[in-house]
Amino acid sequence: MERSGGVEHQKKKTAGGVEHQKKKITGGVKHQEKNIMAVVDEEALGKDEDNRFVKSIDNVPFFSQFNDHIRHLLDAVDRLRELNVSKEGIKLPTIVVVGDQSSGKSSVLESLAGISLPRGQGICTRVPLIMRLQGSHYYSSEPQLHLEYQGKTVQTSEEEVSIAINAATEEIAGKQKGVSDNPITLVVKKKSVPDLTMVDLPGITRVPVLGQPEDIYEQISKIIMEYITPKETIILNVLSATVDFPTCESIRMSQAVDKSGERTLAVVTKSDKAPEGLLEKVTADDVNIGLGYVCVRNRIGDESYEEAREEEASLFDLHPLLSMIDKSMVGIPVLAERLVKIQSIIIGKCFPETIKNIDAKLAQSLQQLRSLPRKLNNLTEAMTAFVQIVGSAKDSLSKLLLRGEFDEYPDDASMYCPARMAEKLNAYSEELGRRSSSAEEFSDNRRFLMDEIAVLRNNAKIGLPNFFPRSTFTTLLRRKLNEVSGIPLDFVHTIWNYLEGVVVRVLTARSENYPQLLSSFRRAADSLVSKMREESLAFVREMVDMEKNADYTSNPEYINTWTNLMTQMQTLKGVLSGNNAETKIEIRPFGQVEVGHLRLFGAEVDEAFDIKMRITAYWKIVILRLVDSLALYLQTSLSNLLYKEMEEVIVKEFVGSGNGSLERLLFESPDVARKRARLNDSVKLLKESKLVLSNAMDRIENAVENDS
Ligand code: GDP
Ligand code: MG
Repeated sequence: MERSGGVEHQKKKTAGGVEHQKKKITGGVKHQEKNIMAVVDEEALGKDEDNRFVKSIDNVPFFSQFNDHIRHLLDAVDRLRELNVSKEGIKLPTIVVVGDQSSGKSSVLESLAGISLPRGQGICTRVPLIMRLQGSHYYSSEPQLHLEYQGKTVQTSEEEVSIAINAATEEIAGKQKGVSDNPITLVVKKKSVPDLTMVDLPGITRVPVLGQPEDIYEQISKIIMEYITPKETIILNVLSATVDFPTCESIRMSQAVDKSGERTLAVVTKSDKAPEGLLEKVTADDVNIGLGYVCVRNRIGDESYEEAREEEASLFDLHPLLSMIDKSMVGIPVLAERLVKIQSIIIGKCFPETIKNIDAKLAQSLQQLRSLPRKLNNLTEAMTAFVQIVGSAKDSLSKLLLRGEFDEYPDDASMYCPARMAEKLNAYSEELGRRSSSAEEFSDNRRFLMDEIAVLRNNAKIGLPNFFPRSTFTTLLRRKLNEVSGIPLDFVHTIWNYLEGVVVRVLTARSENYPQLLSSFRRAADSLVSKMREESLAFVREMVDMEKNADYTSNPEYINTWTNLMTQMQTLKGVLSGNNAETKIEIRPFGQVEVGHLRLFGAEVDEAFDIKMRITAYWKIVILRLVDSLALYLQTSLSNLLYKEMEEVIVKEFVGSGNGSLERLLFESPDVARKRARLNDSVKLLKESKLVLSNAMDRIENAVENDS
């Protein structure tokens, strides 16, 4: 009678649950924003009116009310875990057990599973143990256990599971005390267990015990952090009642990734050993445990699992201190129930996200696979591929060098070629200007106009005094040009060094998938750039020569500047003819200039001043020409490089590099082969994962239809 009532009750509950979950899955993304704590508050912490569920865990299928579709989802998640989707960066909702060494982690799992796990002092758990408890699918009376690790499946039994786990641990992490992050999966199918999947991790220890590696703490923390960092993880923090919680390493670690504790649940073990003050400890909550505390007492010594539960129940019922703790916070059955609920919540919450992530990752892998080079089967294909590669390199370079489009290197400012070249050109122009107008030179040292006067005297001829010889002007001009002629040459080197970097980089990137091309592409880049560099240097020499050999400009700026500068002659003469003590005056464009020494010279000063002002006015034009024509030249040179030289040089380097160059393209490089294999694996895995998920969704939909 009571039983059938129970079934009625459960059926209703299951159907309601499905409705609820369906809503949750479809509205999942929105739902996710909701704080998990709030969800757990309203769903998990609510008093369950079905007491049988809590009390008689041994007889009734433990979680018969555990609704079907959550089971399907959990199965799907377990299957994904088995497929190891985490290696594709897909995080799965997981309950992870952490705790300091000997805090009782394995004992808690043992209590939940009703089996014996390796247990004891020191470090027993040396690799992650993924424990999958399956109660609801399993109706046979004989429990079935097996281990999966390193691609193997090993059948075992309740009696031997401990030995089997130790053997597997030794196989993975060696006989010593070392640890490994390579997991063992233990599947327990037994009708009295909850449907729960949890990961037991090695306990944290600061001090290595005999035989443990020095860096054991770092190794173990690394494994633990890897598991507890993803926000999809629920942290089951196992704390011994005998210690001060804030001093626990495991609390420090879980707080590092979950400050507010919204995904941390605490299990307090060894309640029997330290009942004093336990109630205060769990109600004070000094350590921010968002999902609450459950105090338990695990199996001690040789007790059977059933005896242990009875002992636990009477401990919390009868002990004068422990019986004060609210019943919703004590006992393995409460813990099991709470975990199942939390698990269903995180799975429901993460499921839509997981589907999305798998889809995105699949699309990405497919895209990468498509962008790998095709396998070339014959010479025609090889030739086509070669032509395409050269074409695309040319394309990239012309975008970068000529058009200033840098969509292929958006994050690398050094590839914004026109901008970088313009900068270098500005620096070049400034350098020319700086070296030629020696403003400070005349301020104190009585040198103003002295060069001009000396040249005038050397070029003196027999003739009328008011015609100064042209050679005076050209001598001074050449002298000035000689002083700066190194600058344009240096500039050409700077520019081509820079361009060489760009060309090499683009050609290297283009031959990335065909390493066979790499060396010829590099040589091609080399000889292309040195050819262009030589041509540019020749141009610069010729350009400077032209300036030396003739003086001409059609630019009216010359006359304008000269006329303007000549107006200062009056000022100069005024100072020279007077007898002021102050003989320092402002003369454009030189600034403050000492002129007193010129009183010793007569008409020569007029000529020298005139020549200086002509040179100054003309020099502006010369610099402009040196900058402008070099800029134009380089621009042309770049387009020649791309459209006239490049293909020829590349073909010459490639074909000329030895016999069978094209044939060599037919062999796929091991790098590409590896990449292809990895991407194919990834695609296969992700497609399989998608199938697992969509099958789970189908089953849930069917269940919903059958129910209604
Ligand atoms: P782990 O290193 O965290 O996995 O800890 P174990 O589960 O191996 O437990 C360490 C020791 O504490 C073992 O000797 C257990 O028997 C003991 N232990 C665990 N839980 C309890 C408990 O609730 N009460 C008592 N008295 N001892 C416990
Ligand atoms: Mg352990």
